[in-house]
Amino acid sequence: MALVTATVDSPSSVETTLTGRSIAPGLGMGRAWVVGDLLTYSGDLRTIGAHEIDGELSRLTTSFEQTLAELQVYAERIEAEFDSVLAGVFRAHSAMLRDLFASGEFEKEMRASLITAEAAVRRIFQKWHQKFREMENQTFRERADDLLDLGRTLLRRLLNEGEVSLKTIPPNSVLVVERLLPSDVVVLPKANVAAVIVESLGQGSHAALLAREKGIPTITEIEGVCARVATGVDLLVDGFHGTLVIAPAKTTCAEFQERLGKWHATLARCKGACRDPARSLDGQLITVEANIGIEDDVELALDNGADGVGLLRIEQLYFARKLPPTEDELFAELQQLVAPLGKRPVTVRLLDIGGDKPLPYLRLVQTANPVLGRRGVRLLLDYSQLVRTQFGALLRLCEEHPLRVLIPMVTVEDDIRRMREVFDALCAERKIAIPPKFGSMIETPAAALAVPTLLKHVDFFCVGTNDLTQYTMAASRDDAAVNDYYLESHESIMRLLSIVLADAGGRPVTLCGELAGSEAWLPKLLQLGFRSLSIAPTVIAAIKAAVRKIDISHSY
Ligand code: PEP
Ligand code: MG
Repeated sequence: MALVTATVDSPSSVETTLTGRSIAPGLGMGRAWVVGDLLTYSGDLRTIGAHEIDGELSRLTTSFEQTLAELQVYAERIEAEFDSVLAGVFRAHSAMLRDLFASGEFEKEMRASLITAEAAVRRIFQKWHQKFREMENQTFRERADDLLDLGRTLLRRLLNEGEVSLKTIPPNSVLVVERLLPSDVVVLPKANVAAVIVESLGQGSHAALLAREKGIPTITEIEGVCARVATGVDLLVDGFHGTLVIAPAKTTCAEFQERLGKWHATLARCKGACRDPARSLDGQLITVEANIGIEDDVELALDNGADGVGLLRIEQLYFARKLPPTEDELFAELQQLVAPLGKRPVTVRLLDIGGDKPLPYLRLVQTANPVLGRRGVRLLLDYSQLVRTQFGALLRLCEEHPLRVLIPMVTVEDDIRRMREVFDALCAERKIAIPPKFGSMIETPAAALAVPTLLKHVDFFCVGTNDLTQYTMAASRDDAAVNDYYLESHESIMRLLSIVLADAGGRPVTLCGELAGSEAWLPKLLQLGFRSLSIAPTVIAAIKAAVRKIDISHSY
């Protein structure tokens, strides 16, 4: 997909235009901030004096001890919230780390090669990673990547870096990375990041939609971009067309700046009336709510005139932490998050992890097809404390905020029936006078076709076209290679949507996948019968403006 449209002499001094694929629209200019892998970084080749070795060894010992203490805390919290099997992963990591340190290999390497503690960690962890990968025993092979992660943790301690370096990205940066996880996007400080360039990213991946939600122009499929761009080089990113200009000339910059100004003016025009309700030309009220996760999104949602929050992805609170929260912590974080929304209703979806949304501190057993495996409600049903923590926090929050509760990744009636039982029991136990409305996500074809069986357990439905597309089109939302099959507006999706609406038995149905934020498909979606949309905060103003120009009774 990557295409060089200007010749390059030296990548950082001659203007070069590369074309990839758009992930999140918008324009951004700034300095490149290339994030490589801490462990494979090869820039610290300097040798040190023999007299410095003892000092380096003591730094290394401290970082080992800190990492071991941290792993112990992790194991205890994971055991409380999940179970001892998952906590065992951290205990195994502690044992691996202890053995490695006790082997004396680090000291030997440092004394023999006169290298820093950081260089020794890189060298030895990479060597052991390779050894583990080549082992016959499958468990050891699977541990190989864990070993790299342990090495990275040690390095962060040695380098005194925060847990997630992306948090500290400087202002006016364009982030350039090979891969992007949802947990990376969650911690990105939007004010500092003008745009993101990722070498490979699926169109429907959670990292992609979080970038859209945050309104950060993002492009992908520019092969080798991390190697071609040096940190500090000026970049222009066009997230509408998927193009990148490296080291732009003055005239190119000036033209880009002019486009940027016009784009901002268009956004400001849409925002003018964004706080008013959106009524179509024929007078139908369309509720336009926001999909949010963290504080930055709330500000964006309010700024763009959201009528409420139609989807709060609770996993984003989990991504932003080093450990799963207790009920008290979760309640406090949610309370702080929704406070600025006043009396606007908020729909909170229970943890939807697994698939392409791994939690950094939760090592679930790796399976061949994680997206078809134990994700969303399937995982919730296996960890009752995890569910009690979330319902508990939400039942406290509903006393002070209009709340709805939503269950992710439902496939069969039993999923929603069992969750409803837990919910009702907890409401009774805590004597909740008016419980929050209880809803089911419809994001698998099975659920879409089984709405008549699900509806007796719920007060409302929320249709997620991101997963519905993935499962209907048999195209992974994470795999850039099948982006052409990942067709959210395919006729088969439209048919499933109309079936859900027809079968919903009067239960309100919100559309909350990325398709709901598409201006091109808005007339069709309204004609199908949707009157409630939940979309990325940054597109709310434009969608409300578009609603006002549509006559739903007119055939498009
Ligand atoms: C969806 O699948 O459309 C959805 C809204 O959920 P998520 O994107 O978080 O999987
Ligand atoms: Mg989904």
